[in-house]
Amino acid sequence: MNDYDLILVGAGHAHLGVLRRWAMLERPPGRIALVSADPQAWYSGMLPGLLAGRFSAQDCAVELQPMCRAAKVDLIIAQVESISAEQRRVTLTEGRGLNANWLSLNVGGQITSLAQQGDAMHCLAVKPFAQFLAGWQQWQQSPKPLAIIGGGAAGVELALALADKVPQLSLFCAGKLLAGHSPGLHLRAIGALRQRRVRLREYSPVSRIEGDQLFSEDELVWRGERVLLATGAQALPWLGQSGLQCDARGFVQVLPTLQSQSHGQIFAVGDCASLPGVRKSGVYSVRQGPVLAHNLMAALREQPFKNYRPQKNSLALLATGDGGALLAWRGLSASGQIYGRWKDYLDQSFIRRHRFSG
Ligand SMILES: Cc1cc2nc3c(=O)[nH]c(=O)nc-3n(C[C@H](O)[C@H](O)[C@H](O)COP(=O)(O)OP(=O)(O)OC[C@H]3O[C@@H](n4cnc5c(N)ncnc54)[C@H](O)[C@@H]3O)c2cc1C
Repeated sequence: MNDYDLILVGAGHAHLGVLRRWAMLERPPGRIALVSADPQAWYSGMLPGLLAGRFSAQDCAVELQPMCRAAKVDLIIAQVESISAEQRRVTLTEGRGLNANWLSLNVGGQITSLAQQGDAMHCLAVKPFAQFLAGWQQWQQSPKPLAIIGGGAAGVELALALADKVPQLSLFCAGKLLAGHSPGLHLRAIGALRQRRVRLREYSPVSRIEGDQLFSEDELVWRGERVLLATGAQALPWLGQSGLQCDARGFVQVLPTLQSQSHGQIFAVGDCASLPGVRKSGVYSVRQGPVLAHNLMAALREQPFKNYRPQKNSLALLATGDGGALLAWRGLSASGQIYGRWKDYLDQSFIRRHRFSG
């Protein structure tokens, strides 16, 4: 007999939505567990505000135990080392194996590391958040010049949040800053970075570290001791080794029902999944939550599944580190304190919705 009817792997945004529904409404029948590397789920949208000193760590995370208790789901705090899609077996780093009839994966991605020679440069990846925050706290005790690598929304928000915390900050991006976003947002972000004296280098793909030097191809682009990696999500290597059908970048290919294309008893959502029209962002993962909750209930009750349809447009709100935000919606852009207050309201509502007592 299997250990569980369903195992939720990873406490990503969609799984939080699923657990909330089950805690408040109705939970599917059977034995269900959540495996999470951390006892809290960090909410990335508030991380820049935490770094800027506007929020405490407690404000930015959801405790999983009360939520799981309310949803009658076993919480297993452990790191997943591998899964076998064929056997639907989850192997934990502590060596334990768990089998389930159904699996649902919401494990996010990881940050690509850089080729490095020597140990003069200290690198800190922005994910996993718990490790990042511990490393950043240490760095803060003796502020030094900092390079951030990654010109997406996360890189921009981090640069704006940290500009006042270090003596000098440089932001490197491989192509255009905020590629894929509107020209208006691009210009506003450049303006905000300039105002905070962040040195921006676009079209400067940093490829390696030698001693205390950063190189873009053969050009020496920066010298210092500390680098923050905020490059986009890369697939966790064990997904590609699981037997699940993955895209060229190693993300699990799913159907509109959010089931794996190759293994129908495994669902995958959020950044770890690959579906046309879906961007790697928390917003899309949150929106997958209700459909996933329905389909997991349907799976355990042998009922029909629903399709998830990605929204064509999504609102982007980028924190500027001073309580304000840059906004982009369907090619329009704006900036100001009022958008920051709106972002805070949306972010804090997300945390409040998922916070259970007890
Ligand atoms: C600084 C920063 C700011 C951002 N701001 C925004 C924003 O404002 N809006 C937005 O939409 N997106 C934002 N993003 C992007 C967003 O963080 C990701 O797209 C989003 O978190 C993906 O959500 P997810 O549900 O796929 O999984 P995640 O939220 O990444 O969660 C994955 C979960 O899986 C767990 N996990 C991972 N590996 C294992 C393992 N081996 N074993 C057990 N558990 C595991 C993790 O502990 C975590 O709980 C930001 C990213 C960064 C870095």
